[in-house]
Amino acid sequence: LPEYAFIGRSNVGKSSLINMLTGRKSLAKTSGKPGKTQLINHFLINKNWFLVDLPGYGYAKVSKSAKKTFQKFITQYFSLREQLVSAFVLVDIRHDPQPIDLEFMQWLGENNIPFSIVFTKADKLKPKAIENHIEDYKTILLETWEDMPNYFITSSSKDIGKDAVLSYIDELNGNLNLG
Ligand code: GDP
Repeated sequence: LPEYAFIGRSNVGKSSLINMLTGRKSLAKTSGKPGKTQLINHFLINKNWFLVDLPGYGYAKVSKSAKKTFQKFITQYFSLREQLVSAFVLVDIRHDPQPIDLEFMQWLGENNIPFSIVFTKADKLKPKAIENHIEDYKTILLETWEDMPNYFITSSSKDIGKDAVLSYIDELNGNLNLG
């Protein structure tokens, strides 16, 4: 079955987003503490695709060896990735573009792994501020990318963006069936 991988810095709101997308409240554990999602979890959705919950990257407070372990998991997943259709890179809409996220997107690009950006916690900013942050992202990303990657604006606490992400995945799944 096709897989879609969700990844981002710790505390970006990944567990909350996964819970919103799956409509199950306590599937992915949410917590303010970094390092909670330590292994790769697969969630079967609609019996036709897997949502893959990858460990977060960019912990400030874990040891170098723990970071290496996470990195190894992530690179191993992406190097096997037989069923992977696309990744979703989560970034907190409140933050300016962060080197670690940009580097990770760069790495995906170099490895020919398609991805979309999911801006999280959109409820925390006014629409104008959201627009400005996205413009900042565009400016930086267009320095290395020909086009702005596909992106979504979401809020798990206000239930925003769920349908957009799910229809996009359905559309990609539909394309697979044609091919
Ligand atoms: P993870 O570490 O990436 O899995 O992040 P979590 O889903 O555990 O969320 C980290 C923190 O951000 C928690 O305190 C959540 O309640 C909060 N959070 C997550 N998503 C949202 C959102 O859409 N809006 C707001 N306001 N807070 C959020």
